[in-house]
Amino acid sequence: MTEPLIYELGSPGRRGIAMPDPDVPLADLPADLVRDDLDLPQVSELDVVRHYTHLSHLNFGIDNNFYPLGSCTMKYNPKLNEDIARLPGFAGLHPAQPAAMTQGALEVVHTVQEWLAELAGFEAVSLQPAAGAQGEFAGILMIRKYHHDRGDTKRTKVLIPDSAHGTNPATVVMAGLDVVELPSDERGNVDLDALREACDDTVAGLMITNPNTLGLFEEHIVEVVELIHGCGGLVYGDGANFNALLGIVRPGDLGFDVMHYNLHKTFSTPHGGGGPGAGAVGVSERLVPYLPGPMAAIVDEDDDGRPIYGLHTPEKTIGRMKAFQGNFGMHVRALAYMLVYGREGLRQVSEMAVLNANYLMARLRDTYHVAFDRICMHEFVIEGKVEGSDVRALDISKRLIDFGFHPPTNYFPLIVHEALMIEPTETESRETLDAFADVMIQIAHEAVEQPELLHNAPHTAPVARLDEVRAARNLMLCCRPIPAPEVYVQPQASAT
Ligand SMILES: *Cc1c(COP(=O)(O)O)cnc(C)c1O
Repeated sequence: MTEPLIYELGSPGRRGIAMPDPDVPLADLPADLVRDDLDLPQVSELDVVRHYTHLSHLNFGIDNNFYPLGSCTMKYNPKLNEDIARLPGFAGLHPAQPAAMTQGALEVVHTVQEWLAELAGFEAVSLQPAAGAQGEFAGILMIRKYHHDRGDTKRTKVLIPDSAHGTNPATVVMAGLDVVELPSDERGNVDLDALREACDDTVAGLMITNPNTLGLFEEHIVEVVELIHGCGGLVYGDGANFNALLGIVRPGDLGFDVMHYNLHKTFSTPHGGGGPGAGAVGVSERLVPYLPGPMAAIVDEDDDGRPIYGLHTPEKTIGRMKAFQGNFGMHVRALAYMLVYGREGLRQVSEMAVLNANYLMARLRDTYHVAFDRICMHEFVIEGKVEGSDVRALDISKRLIDFGFHPPTNYFPLIVHEALMIEPTETESRETLDAFADVMIQIAHEAVEQPELLHNAPHTAPVARLDEVRAARNLMLCCRPIPAPEVYVQPQASAT
């Protein structure tokens, strides 16, 4: 980057602020909080606007261009959701206000709970968890507590297919249980023989993603659920791929006992800079007493028969996952989204997501090898290799950046060699899908004719090819460069 940092721009006495008149009485600041050595740049409004506008151009987001990041469901975040979440009645609330003053907000939380329960066929939903991974953690803690409460303490194993997202095994380990990996069969389903063999009275449950991270619907899902229930285990559904099922299949009807929803995926709330997310968790009847709380509930009715809302924590709850009611602003956005689409519209969301993925897969099939070539759901996985070239998935991804596209998910799921996992989502037009497919096909030609174009990509980004390991280990988040340590010293394993 050649642009000066804003810290280098200032000149003493330059000002660019117009503070609004205070709407509260003036008061002196506590003397011990006031500093006179604060080293901030003194810049004009124009300098500040240019600085931040420039920075915003360095970011890639769903508002810039196509973002086919498989499994993450990077769909458009409707701006209407933002307007609704900013209504003063929502944005100005304090979470500690008493229920009598927050009936509208509690009704929002309650309505989202009800809609999510209805959409996935569950008995109840808690909006406490702040992310999918936290929803998983809540779910596995509930399963563990359910077994313990029945005195069934030898159930320590959780079965997980080898196509699973890394958060699944991480969750199980965090909950103090043991992971047993299940292989996939040649059609990308869970291998039923391996599952049968693993089922015994030490199994606490199964964590399954359906459709799985290959974008494939589990063809034997009913048998899988029966096998697990048959040996006394519970079924955890990783609902991150729920975008493929809205209004079509209800995991609760398939016998799932618990599932998380990623409101920031399926229900279009933003995935912004690491947060805030919302990973609601829904359960079948037997797990209702264990849900994390507090949840919104109808506690009474007024003289006209209208519901009065309050907070409720189930009696055997695993506890709290998050302060107050979770990320309330996300619940408001998700409700706005659900109400805009309604029952039929939500089904159409999934139908279009599946159609778009199949269209893109069909356009790429002759150029790239599709890992498991059958009708896909909302995403599919190709191998990032080109015949007659030594390029890898990473090279293809980096070259996509030169064309303004965000790379697909790389090297996941782990069971596909050089995996590129592509999820277009329902919000993209046919023109965008065609533009992306054309570029992918052009890149395959370049891979043979000018492979160095790919090896050295990206050429147009603010930083060229990074050493990704070093970038992750020496993460620099400060606008003033901090000298990196000269040598990275690998911690030595202790001899004892
Ligand atoms: C995104 C995702 C998760 C984790 O969700 P977060 O909200 O990112 O914590 C888990 N499983 C799958 C399959 C996912 O795609």
